[in-house]
Amino acid sequence: MSFPISTDKIETRLYINGSFSKASDNSKFPIHSPYTHDKIVDVSEASVDDTDRAVAAAKAALPSWSALSPDARGAYLKKLAGLIRDSNDELAQLEAMSSGRPLSMYFDAQYTASQFDHWAVASWEGSQGRSSLNTPGFVSMTFRQPIGPVAIVTPWNFPVAFFGQKAGPALAAGCTVVLKSSEKAPLTSAKIASLVHEAGFPAGVFNILSGHGSPCGSTLASHPDIRAINFTGSTATGRKIQIAAATSNLKRVILELGGKSPAIVFEDADIDKAAGETVGGIALVMGQACVSNSRIYVHESVFEKFMHVFLTIYKGVKKGDPLLPETSQGPQVDRLQYERVKGYLDAARVGQGKLEMGGHVTEGENGKGYFIEPTVYSGVPEDEVTQKEEVFGPFVNINKFKTEEEVLTKANDSEYGLYASVYTNDLSRALRVAKALESGQVAINCTSPTSMADMPFGGYKQSGQGREGYGYSIDEYLETKSVFIAVKDASGTAVSGSVLAR
Ligand code: NAD
Repeated sequence: MSFPISTDKIETRLYINGSFSKASDNSKFPIHSPYTHDKIVDVSEASVDDTDRAVAAAKAALPSWSALSPDARGAYLKKLAGLIRDSNDELAQLEAMSSGRPLSMYFDAQYTASQFDHWAVASWEGSQGRSSLNTPGFVSMTFRQPIGPVAIVTPWNFPVAFFGQKAGPALAAGCTVVLKSSEKAPLTSAKIASLVHEAGFPAGVFNILSGHGSPCGSTLASHPDIRAINFTGSTATGRKIQIAAATSNLKRVILELGGKSPAIVFEDADIDKAAGETVGGIALVMGQACVSNSRIYVHESVFEKFMHVFLTIYKGVKKGDPLLPETSQGPQVDRLQYERVKGYLDAARVGQGKLEMGGHVTEGENGKGYFIEPTVYSGVPEDEVTQKEEVFGPFVNINKFKTEEEVLTKANDSEYGLYASVYTNDLSRALRVAKALESGQVAINCTSPTSMADMPFGGYKQSGQGREGYGYSIDEYLETKSVFIAVKDASGTAVSGSVLAR
């Protein structure tokens, strides 16, 4: 692979039923670099026909794929994991070119490969049912069977990471998949389509489309032959998908949505560690992560010290070309996101908070690029828009608190509940606070993006529904069927049928 990748080597087509094609109506959309603003390539925009064709292929492939043993399915997943690992550098470059993600922050290919490795073997146990002899005269059992063709709709911030996290368990469960990538970051998904092809998956098992929310995403959400849809993205789109599912075929809906994650730093915490890690939590992908600790609450007695360390570290972020290895801050993903964050900078400027650092849009050394200065405000009232809404940029509010009760009220006063963290050396307090926080994840003495592969990931409240993680995700793709057998006793008599045999 050359560096940078020559654009004529970039895959831009749809992958349907085991082969690549352009859109049926030859429709395309451009991908521009958020750093140079130059066009990189035109990518195929899946039409309704293309989407229907992908779903039909997934439906046709389901019986034979689900009939394979876990090992036989797992062999394809294992092969894909290896190919993704080998393509790490190319995937990192594609993401840097198209979404501004610095090479230094790229972990997604390794992560997703380990997901596929795990799911290659996990369905032996994950899809087992249970048996019961509790009802006299009966042997009862459950069958766990694939729910049907599954749609996966991914966002632009970690598109490759979501591949393994979502498609891995669906394929392991015996489901077939139609995945739609984000229109802002389709290149790595199209590259993985070529790896799916190389891994030799049977035609129709794993279909990969590029396109916008409409028509492709909305067609999947309302499609009568899709039986489950797994979506990561904004709460607004999650709501639309839920409505489309409800008004079509009541497909199962798994939603991983937005966040406004609080980090709480008590007076007895290791302040240097807390400040360093919370900088990492907001600096990761320029604040464009659902788990970014975008609200930090620091006990008033250690506030000055924390702020000093935090600002010193955050000022060390190195802005630049995302393709250079030393860069730790790239541009925001596109003009739309840049303008959106700029709107929050404007709102903060006229708000009551105190600007501690940054506060403006900026540009790269090339005089271009959708850069935002890393921005910190303090003393922001809880009802201000930047304290309530997901900014999705390098922007954090750091507020003081006095008591545990006060900080818990503030931390929980949000419609989001995806991730929260608490720094303290008092174990009882840590566990008390963890119990009280309305959040799908609570990190103690660590913060985002730390998460555990074998712990469920998902949100409280409007941060989503459903859980993903080793030991959890596969459940979302399986139906559970009760099967019971009336067994004759030694005299040859069977329990006569009863509506409620107990
Ligand atoms: P988005 O909602 O704009 O888009 C996500 C995906 O949904 C894209 O592929 C888009 O094309 C598609 N889409 C749009 N409209 C659709 C429709 N009507 N039907 C079906 N699909 C449709 O989100 P985004 O801007 O790509 O991502 C940012 C958001 O994602 C943030 O809110 C962030 O917090 C959230 N996010 C959540 C997690 C998590 O795990 N909870 C992880 C990453 C990002």
